[in-house]
Amino acid sequence: MEVREFKSFYKTVGGGEGQKCKYPTRLDTYGCGCQHDCKYCYAKSLLDFRKLWNPEQPAVADIRKIERTISKIPKGSIVRLGGMTDCFQPCELDHRITYQTIKLLNKYEIGYLIVTKSHIIANEEYMDILDKDLAHIQITVTTLDDDKSLEYEKASVPSKRVEAIKKLQDAGFDVAIRLSPLIPEFMDFDKLNSLGINKAIVEFLRVNHWIKKWFDIDYSKHTLKEGGYNHLPLEEKLRIIEKIKIPTISVCEDYTEHYEYWRDNFNPNKEDCCNLR
Ligand code: SF4
Repeated sequence: MEVREFKSFYKTVGGGEGQKCKYPTRLDTYGCGCQHDCKYCYAKSLLDFRKLWNPEQPAVADIRKIERTISKIPKGSIVRLGGMTDCFQPCELDHRITYQTIKLLNKYEIGYLIVTKSHIIANEEYMDILDKDLAHIQITVTTLDDDKSLEYEKASVPSKRVEAIKKLQDAGFDVAIRLSPLIPEFMDFDKLNSLGINKAIVEFLRVNHWIKKWFDIDYSKHTLKEGGYNHLPLEEKLRIIEKIKIPTISVCEDYTEHYEYWRDNFNPNKEDCCNLR
């Protein structure tokens, strides 16, 4: 099968998101589709109606072009891998672009924040090349129920993702469970709190017209509107977050007023909602 090239693999996000996020520069090794094809996916909701989303065959970035870009990034910067499309979706095992990119980031001494819904990152060959000083990892989970997750996302089952988090945590990596989106009716909070995970990042579900169409859950509490998305009120978010008893919790927020609330009253690091070590 012919491999499509993913050309816009490097982007610094501007606007409201760019101002709120400490790591607005994304390096995506795959794009224009993600094999995980989650029903609530923001990237899919932005690309599908323009016929730019192909979950069966994501486009693949050219590693030579990636190296040219990385060689110009100042040492000590941090780029986000998998911010737009998962960099550890199954096709990584065929193309190895993320593997080669991590080696290049190590070579040029650039930090990397990896966001993924895959357990592949904790495979030995990847753990061998992750640099503890440069790598920051967030593994995303939306439920702890393996069967439930398969109803709306085609990523590794949550039990494998949790296993990967614990393996990385035990090995001394800066790793967090990313509850993104946090869907309270799908989350077993007692089980979550008993996993022995030390660090969590929470992102509440925001929905647009497309996500509502694909992902059929109750949105009656999503009454706030901003930037084309519906959000939960702050009181509801506070009620949900109280149920999480993980030692360190930080909230990644898009709704401006709530972003300021978490920054000033809740997050351990006011300058960095990802709370990297
Ligand atoms: S893993 Fe991320 S990029 Fe891939 S479909 Fe799911 S939400 Fe979208």
